[in-house]
Amino acid sequence: MSTNSASRRVSVIGLGAMGSTLTRLLLNNGYQVTVWNRTKEKADALVEQGAILAKNPGEAIQAGSIIVVCVYDYNVANNILQSKGTADALKGKVLIQLTTGSPHEARESEKWVTESGADYLDGAIQAAPGQMGGPDTPIFVSGSAAAFQKSESVLHTFGGGITWLGESVDSASAMDLATLSYIYGSVLGFFHGVRIAEVSGIDVENYGSLVAQISKSFGDFLKHESRVIQSGDFRVSESPLKISVEATERILQQAKNANISTAFPSLAADMFRKASDAGYRDEEAAALIKVLRAESQKTTN
Ligand code: NDP
Repeated sequence: MSTNSASRRVSVIGLGAMGSTLTRLLLNNGYQVTVWNRTKEKADALVEQGAILAKNPGEAIQAGSIIVVCVYDYNVANNILQSKGTADALKGKVLIQLTTGSPHEARESEKWVTESGADYLDGAIQAAPGQMGGPDTPIFVSGSAAAFQKSESVLHTFGGGITWLGESVDSASAMDLATLSYIYGSVLGFFHGVRIAEVSGIDVENYGSLVAQISKSFGDFLKHESRVIQSGDFRVSESPLKISVEATERILQQAKNANISTAFPSLAADMFRKASDAGYRDEEAAALIKVLRAESQKTTN
């Protein structure tokens, strides 16, 4: 079989909501797909669409030259892949781990997978199953450059927004934690905003629409702040930190007045107050990072 046709043989281990979607996208794009899942009934619809059901994980790995793994967590993945005879089948293959995990798990995985003679890529999917396969669907990957080159077209089937973050295998999962931190910070703020809307008689759905509307320009602002941090030049370029000090105090005060939860605004106001007390009021808002850096020095000393 030619290298080209070999790279069209892909195996998918794990047919949950995400693994099934990845399989469907591969089938739709003409790949020969072999699948394995603990609960084999989940393969039924995919087999009808042309997937081949392997009897065990080892057989699935044998059948593909690129192996995609997408199960609940790394413990599950390791139990499946390291079972007797299975790891041996990995020799000469490319393993793409799309199960969500930590940077430590990515490093450990790369170690044993490469010791088994396979190339390894670690990925972090930044989208829900229904958003997969779109022209911008974001997926971070890191690890072997050779593995990335061999599997780039398979990865593009999953989403056009593939970003390879370099050969340090833990970069994708670290970036996943960084983007999730941003998301969860926003989620907490969003729900506090819902409470403000509720007690102020504002239509909550309208609030949600406006949040979506301002998200792009807010994202651009954060991109600017990241540039400021990278440059180390904190002179005011867009937004002085004192504006955020006052805004977060105002949100906290309103929460107290309206008798709604102060959990989120207390945290935000406290952090900006610390930055103000440290003398960063008249620097760019990004100077808040200096407070966070000082805090981590305190905890490590
Ligand atoms: P599901 O819960 O739908 O599927 C979990 C998968 O793991 C199934 O294939 C399941 O097998 C398998 N599994 C769980 N426990 C075991 C076990 N003990 N032994 C063998 N197999 C097991 O999860 P998703 O498909 O949604 O998620 C898969 C990965 O993708 C996760 O790491 C998730 O974080 C990541 N991801 C998911 C997103 C989403 O929105 N869904 C978004 C981004 C990333 P079985 O069918 O037999 O139960």
